[in-house]
Amino acid sequence: MVRIAVIPGDGIANEVVPEAVKTLDAVNALFEIGLEHETFDYGVERYLRTGEVAPDNIDEIIKKLPEKFDAALFGAGGIDPRLPAGVNAQVVLRALRRGLDLFANVRPCRLLHPSLTPLKNKTSDDINFVVIRENTEGYEGGTAGNFKRGTPDETEIRPEYNTYKGVKRVLEFAFDYARTTGRNRVHMAEKGLPGGLWSRLFQEVSEKYPDIEPVHMHIDTVAYLMIVAPEEFQIVVAENRAGDILSDVGGAVQGSRGLAPTGCFNPEKSFCYFEPVHGTGPDILGKNVANPMAAIMASRMLLEHFGHTQAGDAIEAAVRSVIASGKTTPDLGGTLSTQEVGEAIREALDSEASSA
Ligand code: ATP
Repeated sequence: MVRIAVIPGDGIANEVVPEAVKTLDAVNALFEIGLEHETFDYGVERYLRTGEVAPDNIDEIIKKLPEKFDAALFGAGGIDPRLPAGVNAQVVLRALRRGLDLFANVRPCRLLHPSLTPLKNKTSDDINFVVIRENTEGYEGGTAGNFKRGTPDETEIRPEYNTYKGVKRVLEFAFDYARTTGRNRVHMAEKGLPGGLWSRLFQEVSEKYPDIEPVHMHIDTVAYLMIVAPEEFQIVVAENRAGDILSDVGGAVQGSRGLAPTGCFNPEKSFCYFEPVHGTGPDILGKNVANPMAAIMASRMLLEHFGHTQAGDAIEAAVRSVIASGKTTPDLGGTLSTQEVGEAIREALDSEASSA
């Protein structure tokens, strides 16, 4: 049995997450997994109804999720044009990431169909890497601020913080992940202080993994190479902001931001959460064109994590076949709506199951 807390959140997540949930229900029926899920309305939809994004004790509520659930399926949190300025809808996301200390954000970048990449002559073998983004430190410190606001002397301070413990554990996670998934190279992307914490710890941690080649690279070089030679990369581990940017480059070489899923883990905890890499998509909100595949592939990651590999593989096969038949949303060149793509994926699941 897998018990899932579904928290769609804001923006287009309210359009794509329901498609992921319907797809989970479909595989649950086909593979008899025993999935259970409960949906929580934290975010903009709740704000519009009640005037609050989430209850005041949202941090406590999220901290207690692991007592009742094995995982969360999240959508996106943040910008939504329906929220007035100053209302922070990221409280739920922060509570999930920092409150639960789920520090390793695993973002696979795989080409699901050769026609999707904008890169010339690159195949599915070339575009197959994983970005591991530190999820709880860096710019998430909450200490940024402005003073002398509105004057020519206005000053903005945006510190980034990296702790010995935080950097070490995400580097170890990346090397362990490389080992358990049969990879033999880990890149570390940063542009920090020469001899700073990230480069020192990268060297130190890599010595414990002699079977894995460590490559230290500046983030700008990694971004460049992801486009001209993505085949160089197997695992790329990076601090919070760099990891966010690089996984968007990864989303682009995959063909769309609407394809990339992610899972957030702490190996000391069994609870984890999954979400599409993309955000709230304010520019396409309400147009019914958001690609639901990233959310659906996030549910595929969830199933795989809990050992339901066959069900997860079936979802991926259905997504691949729908892409191959051109039944896609406009970001992939098609004309279908979010719901029509979700429906096409579930039909593909059914037809695979009946021909198996
Ligand atoms: P965040 O800060 O949360 O990462 P963002 O504002 O940087 O969010 P997104 O909300 O991901 O970025 O949107 C960036 C661009 O990608 C937008 O043009 C959006 O329309 C597009 N996009 C994002 N998700 C999808 C999707 N599922 N389908 C199609 N286009 C998408």
